[in-house]
Amino acid sequence: MRAHILEELSKLKAAGLKRSLKLVEGPQGPRVSVDGREVILLCSNDYLGLANDPLVKEAAKEAIDRWGLGAGASRLVSGNMEPHMMLEERIRRFKGAESVLLFNSGYNANLGVICALAGRDAEIFSDKLNHASIVDACVLSRARFKRYPNRDLGSLETLLRMSKARKKLIVTDGVFSMDGTIAPLKEITGLLDRYDATLFVDDAHATGVLGPTGRGTLEYFNVTHPSIIQMGTLGKALGAFGAFIAGPVELTELLISRARPFIYTTALPPAVCMAAIKAIDIIDQRPTLRERLWKNVSILKKGLEGAGLDTMGSETQIIPVLTGTAERATAISAKLLSMGVFIHGIRPPTVPEGKSRLRITVTAAHTEEDLILALSAIKEAFNG
Ligand SMILES: *Cc1c(COP(=O)(O)O)cnc(C)c1O
Repeated sequence: MRAHILEELSKLKAAGLKRSLKLVEGPQGPRVSVDGREVILLCSNDYLGLANDPLVKEAAKEAIDRWGLGAGASRLVSGNMEPHMMLEERIRRFKGAESVLLFNSGYNANLGVICALAGRDAEIFSDKLNHASIVDACVLSRARFKRYPNRDLGSLETLLRMSKARKKLIVTDGVFSMDGTIAPLKEITGLLDRYDATLFVDDAHATGVLGPTGRGTLEYFNVTHPSIIQMGTLGKALGAFGAFIAGPVELTELLISRARPFIYTTALPPAVCMAAIKAIDIIDQRPTLRERLWKNVSILKKGLEGAGLDTMGSETQIIPVLTGTAERATAISAKLLSMGVFIHGIRPPTVPEGKSRLRITVTAAHTEEDLILALSAIKEAFNG
């Protein structure tokens, strides 16, 4: 067995695709310690700095005292506790949704919903740049599935027109996780009635961030439609862990009986739920967090583009900088780390061949000084 594993590892290494873990010491924040050195962290999805917020931490601590640590069982057995119900109700109000169901992660939510909705009698239409969890879900669902070029409405409509499937499910990221671009949800929603289709929006990177009050991509475009289902994660801008599905009440009822990643897994720890509730309260009470985030996005993007770097059309807090080859992405990322700036290189298969990049994510917690220092290091690393 060892020989087989070593063979696979050496293949990965030869292709420049071997991955390894980096240790971040201490809590998440705009500056963290890596290998014992302080670095500016520009690859976390803790977009509002809530993962280490004192009020969020306090909510988790109080919840541990009241409800203990683990939920002890799946929600359908004996793990359904008050914090789960309270968080679902808080998210339901936040999203203005009819019904909400928690999942243990966005990955699980995508598997659960797509497989529960789309069986062999369905056809799925999935944007080519959708997150890996969506691709996995499409394969696992056994539905027919077609991928359309990123944000290409003409191709999507052609596929819908040609489809003979009784059930049609369009799936798209709200914000594309490696490009930082936004899906054209207004136009996609315009297709739903004409083709009797359902739209599933993975709003992992938009929840808490996009739209005037941080409700996500639908709020950003001011779109509503009864045939839209939304997924949001609690692990990114909310600084916690877990995920949710928001949609019609029949949907959550179906998921409780059919979504295997909901049924066959231990419920979220109560303290995580109470911390997420506090995070949503903060998102509602502190609009300045979003203002700071967008100001930081603008500073960083202007600086990068001013230096002639290609930010690949980014519209959000996710700002890629194209390197081309995987080797160059790895080399620049390593150089930046040695200069005190932590940004990952993203390589195939996460992104297409030849589209390797540095993927910068900026947060509300970064100071202008952090960004100025990072910009000067990035410019030097790219030109050196
Ligand atoms: C991060 C991410 C997920 C997974 O969410 P987790 O809660 O981290 O499992 C799903 N979809 C997209 C687009 C993501 O970026």
